[in-house]
Amino acid sequence: MKPTVMIGAQWGDEGKGKLVDALAADYDVVARFNGGNNAGHTIMYQGEQCKLHVLPSGIFQKKNLLIAQGAVFDPNVMLAELEFCKKHRLKLDLLIDYRVNLVMPYHKLFDGAHEKWKGGKATGSVKVGVGYCYEDRNNRSGIRCEDLLHPKILEEKIVMLLPLKMAILEKVYGIKANLKVKTIVADLLASAKIIGPYIGDVSMYVANNLDKKKILFEGAMGTMLDGQFGTYPYTVANNTIASSVFTSVGMPEVPLNALGVVKAYTTRVGGGPFPTEQINANGEKLQTIGREIAATSGRIRRCGWLDLPIIRFAHRLNRFTSLALTKLDVLSGFSKISVCVGYRYGKKLYREYPGNSHEYAGCKPIYKVFEGWNTSLGGIRSWTALPKYARAYIRFIENDIGVPVKFLSLGAERDALIRL
Ligand code: GDP
Repeated sequence: MKPTVMIGAQWGDEGKGKLVDALAADYDVVARFNGGNNAGHTIMYQGEQCKLHVLPSGIFQKKNLLIAQGAVFDPNVMLAELEFCKKHRLKLDLLIDYRVNLVMPYHKLFDGAHEKWKGGKATGSVKVGVGYCYEDRNNRSGIRCEDLLHPKILEEKIVMLLPLKMAILEKVYGIKANLKVKTIVADLLASAKIIGPYIGDVSMYVANNLDKKKILFEGAMGTMLDGQFGTYPYTVANNTIASSVFTSVGMPEVPLNALGVVKAYTTRVGGGPFPTEQINANGEKLQTIGREIAATSGRIRRCGWLDLPIIRFAHRLNRFTSLALTKLDVLSGFSKISVCVGYRYGKKLYREYPGNSHEYAGCKPIYKVFEGWNTSLGGIRSWTALPKYARAYIRFIENDIGVPVKFLSLGAERDALIRL
């Protein structure tokens, strides 16, 4: 019973949330293992658009839910999502790892201040403090979920850390923060009352259940946002690639199914190079039909054609065993569809993302043009019912990457899915 890890093959927003929601029925456990409340998954539930930032997307399928060490969250965002579950009477079977770090009020201030400092070179952070939470985690100054269960230790840590954080904010960034130990501790202890009962040892849970339960590890963000392998520095602060699941959960390197989620075109939020971006009527059309508005920041996503060198790179890093192609329906309004099959960089040709992010900024896309299918895919639920040119588009991607497409998503709703 190999666990599955689901990974976005692009810059996130590939439609992983919808897919986890749809596939969760096949699993016993759905686990988040990375990212924080800077991630956002949009799921249609009973006709309502629900945005999740911290809870695994398996909540609507009433699965065992895990949040592993590699994730972080803002307690207030967690409280809001727990409240949402209560309101919708969603039975929650949730375990949050002791070691998960919490986003503190000063992390948000650092996030905003540092982006301002970088000026024109800002990363495009959503400024919810997640990167700074990871920074504190890595330099051993984090507040972890286990601290919520030990009020005295929690207070000692805040007493030690807060003056340093305030001094840096004031002396380096010129921000006079009105943060008080008493208030921070009181707020954390109030959230501990609600979150505390869910805290435990996820690493142990996974070790005990690897052979007993079917586990789906839900990756947040996408491969190109990986803190080291993505388009640095326009990335997130953590790893997003499949192999990071082992250290993020605290489990041995067991064989995994790696499901790569590929949007049928490309989008990205924030700054950074994007060779196939369409700053024209095509880009606007993708944006409008695809409703490309970021779940967390509300920012409009930049849109462009599918970039195969990115997917090839993502496959090399993640070794996908199957692919899910999402938002194919969005391409229905185009008479011609371009796909980038390589890059030209000066005299060099690249088949894959070049690895050197500075060269990537100068890469020019080489396109192959496909016939569009000019007809709605609404209601189609089988491979044979798909228009000929849509099938050709899918097969081309599949053959190029050398990984079978097992799922086709043709709409935001759970049932707008074809299994191949
Ligand atoms: P995630 O972070 O990868 O889960 O993606 P987001 O939730 O941020 O963005 C994906 C958006 O596309 C959401 O609004 C989904 O409801 C929507 N969506 C997912 N799959 C499809 C699809 O196949 N077709 C269309 N039209 N929308 C989809």
